[in-house]
Amino acid sequence: MCGIIAYSGKGDAAILAFESLKKLEYRGYDSWGVAALLANGKKAFSVIKKVGKIGATNSEFVKQAIPEQNHMAIAHTRWATHGGVTEQNAHPHLDCRLTIAVVHNGIIENYQGIRNSLNTPGEAHEFKSQTDTEVIPHYIEHLMQKEGCDFLTAARKAAILIKGRSAFVALNSETGQMFAARKGAPLIVGIHENNSEEFFIASDLTAFLDHTNKVMYLDDNEGLSISNGKIDFFDIETGAPKQKRVVDIHWHGKANLEKEGYDHFLIKEIMEQKYTIAAAINQDDEKIQDVADAIKGAFGTFLVGCGTAGKVCMTGEYLFSKIAKKHVNSVVASEFSGYQHYLTPKTLVVAVSQSGETADVLEAIEIAKSKSAKIVSLLNVFGSTMMRVSDDFFITNAGAERAVVSTKATTAQLAVLSLLAYAAAGRLQEGKLLLMNAASSVNDMLNPRYEEHLKRLALILQDKKDIFIIGRGLNYPIALEAAIKLQETCNIHAQGFAGGELKHGPLALVGPDTPCIVLVANDDAKQDILNNASEVKARGGFIIGISPENDEVFDFWVKVPDAGNASPIVNIIPVQILAYNIALLLGRDPDYPRNLAKSVTVK
Ligand code: GLU
Repeated sequence: MCGIIAYSGKGDAAILAFESLKKLEYRGYDSWGVAALLANGKKAFSVIKKVGKIGATNSEFVKQAIPEQNHMAIAHTRWATHGGVTEQNAHPHLDCRLTIAVVHNGIIENYQGIRNSLNTPGEAHEFKSQTDTEVIPHYIEHLMQKEGCDFLTAARKAAILIKGRSAFVALNSETGQMFAARKGAPLIVGIHENNSEEFFIASDLTAFLDHTNKVMYLDDNEGLSISNGKIDFFDIETGAPKQKRVVDIHWHGKANLEKEGYDHFLIKEIMEQKYTIAAAINQDDEKIQDVADAIKGAFGTFLVGCGTAGKVCMTGEYLFSKIAKKHVNSVVASEFSGYQHYLTPKTLVVAVSQSGETADVLEAIEIAKSKSAKIVSLLNVFGSTMMRVSDDFFITNAGAERAVVSTKATTAQLAVLSLLAYAAAGRLQEGKLLLMNAASSVNDMLNPRYEEHLKRLALILQDKKDIFIIGRGLNYPIALEAAIKLQETCNIHAQGFAGGELKHGPLALVGPDTPCIVLVANDDAKQDILNNASEVKARGGFIIGISPENDEVFDFWVKVPDAGNASPIVNIIPVQILAYNIALLLGRDPDYPRNLAKSVTVK
């Protein structure tokens, strides 16, 4: 959450930072801002702050707002944690003397104490925002003014002081120095291919992939400074220098960063499932088998994820039970600490995250590592923090996922977990074949006629206040995932249930025309879920069947291929398309759901 970009070099810094920031918009879109350090000895910043999405602004606006030459700039797109969505709360934040500008990602848990300590009878700082972030520039100012620290030492001390998962970049207009610190939230450095004095610092490498493939990763508790075109890395606590390796990134996702003729990233990414499922199962067989054997042999396996990835983990629990007869536990990452007493060096944690940066999952990994458990991660972003802290990893090969609402990464995760379950059963090739067939049926499914049919359903559902989704077995977690899709994309109250649970409470909410989406597969849960659908219909409910075959209980039928144990993959796809089309009818922005952001780097 939140996107940071900083630039230092000979280029037009404000424009470069602004253009790069646009690529990070999915990380937060409450407000955005840029601070550029003016050149020609001016020693001052020019600052822009705006509420709303950066996508609505073009670089002409920035050129006009900051016409002067500048070669260092920091920029930020915000997902508010502390303080409302206002211009004052937009980053960058500055100190009282307007010489230190800061952009920050994350939460400063002890900000209140720091803020209080900066407002004593002998020293009053004027805070202009309600953010936690603003303590950073003021604290740096305090150390420079009252304790005689130089800028880099003061910034490093600020980085030591703040608690919680964070990353920040600070720029000093008087010295022309830049400082960046990583404390639990990602920061990646790009160095220009042909110019070793030109740097980008960003929350995600997609921000600067247009300019360079050469990157250096900051690890937690590491910082960097840029002075006179020279970059230095160090340990934040001790200040001791650190050497960094330059890595060449040849990321499959690079070509994936634009809408390529589609109106939105969301529909583009839904359609890309024509080939991303096949790409996901293109894994090294030996590695799949090794990890599957490790899952089988582990003394306790935990599948850990958040949100959609959490529902994928839950599906994994069913897949392992059904296919491999192996008990694995799925746990929502933010609740993982409650399970820490079961962890031993023989435990295996399979961590699932699209971005590989999800704060709750990273924290679960830290807990597991502290008990010497082994970590395998399943992620979509090569080079992400999770990849680097895990014992082993799989990349889901879905390509860059830009829409906040996850689609192609979800089905890719489901595909890899299915492969692992088949491998754990000693039936890897059978699993591959099943998934290849599912991938090719998805290819057939994703045609304009199919979308037209779902558009008709969208018209029926667009004004509904509540939508129920039910499933059983493998499709119970998918009912929960379907509800997430409708909630985030359409802002409709949608709720998923295990089909058998309705009669224990939720059925009381069903009235005339209450829509209920029923996820059906040709498996041993089929008759029971159809019976549950009848129970809803008997109370006036409007039944939408997502099923390989039609049934008399359905008021509206959406056909899906009969994909056997890959039914979770094929059953979620029509819901993705439906959610997209309802969002359009309701005038929602499908790519940027209200109140949400991608790459959830706060707890
Ligand atoms: N906590 C900071 C704020 O609310 C940063 C949030 C972010 O990561 O965007 O402004």
